[in-house]
Amino acid sequence: MAILDMRLLPDPILRKQAKKVAKVTPQLKKLVENMVETMRDQRGVGLAANQVGSLQKVAVIETPEMEEPMVLINPEIMKAEGERQVEEGCLSVPGYRGLVNRSEKVRVKAMGLDGKIYRLNAEDLLAQALEHEIDHLNGILYIDHLVDHGSLYKITYHEHDDEEDEFDGDLDDGEDEAEESTESVAVETSASGAED
Ligand code: ZN
Repeated sequence: MAILDMRLLPDPILRKQAKKVAKVTPQLKKLVENMVETMRDQRGVGLAANQVGSLQKVAVIETPEMEEPMVLINPEIMKAEGERQVEEGCLSVPGYRGLVNRSEKVRVKAMGLDGKIYRLNAEDLLAQALEHEIDHLNGILYIDHLVDHGSLYKITYHEHDDEEDEFDGDLDDGEDEAEESTESVAVETSASGAED
C-alpha cells in the first residue's frame, strides 16, 4: 500500500468529471487500498479518486462508527430529502471550512469491490459524506454549496477535543482540531481558484 499525493485546489482535476468504472480489476483494488490508506493518513472521513489524481468514479468513506471503510464505485445519489446547514471542509481545500447546504437523507446506489451493486439509505454524517464525495466525482466542491458568499472561513489550528462528532468533509483535523476564526473570506473565484 502507498500513501498517494493529494491534489489541491486549484488543480484542474478536481473540476473534472470522473469516468465510470467498467469492471473491478486488480489495479482498481490497488487504487482503493491506497485511497483508504491515504484517507486514514490524512485523518479524513472520505476521499474521492480525483483527489489523488485518478479520474475513475471511485470514492471511499470511513466515519468513526464504521468497522471498515465503505467503497463506492460509480456511486449515484438516487434520492435526496430535506435540507440542513452544516459546516464542512475538504482535504483538497486545506485551511478553510464553510457553511453549506446539504440534504438530510440520501439514497445512494453504488458498486462494491465484489462487483455487485448495492443501495443504501443514509442520514446525518454519512449522508453528508456521501454527497461530498459523489460531488467530487462530478467535479463539484463543497465551496459550490456555500450557504452564502460570506460562509467560507479560514481556519486556525489549536488543540482542543470537543469536536469529535463534527463532520469535516474529508478535511484533516490532524492532531490539532480546527476551529473557524472570525475572519471570513469572500468566495471569489480568484480567492478559491474555483471555476463556476
Ligand atoms: Zn473533499
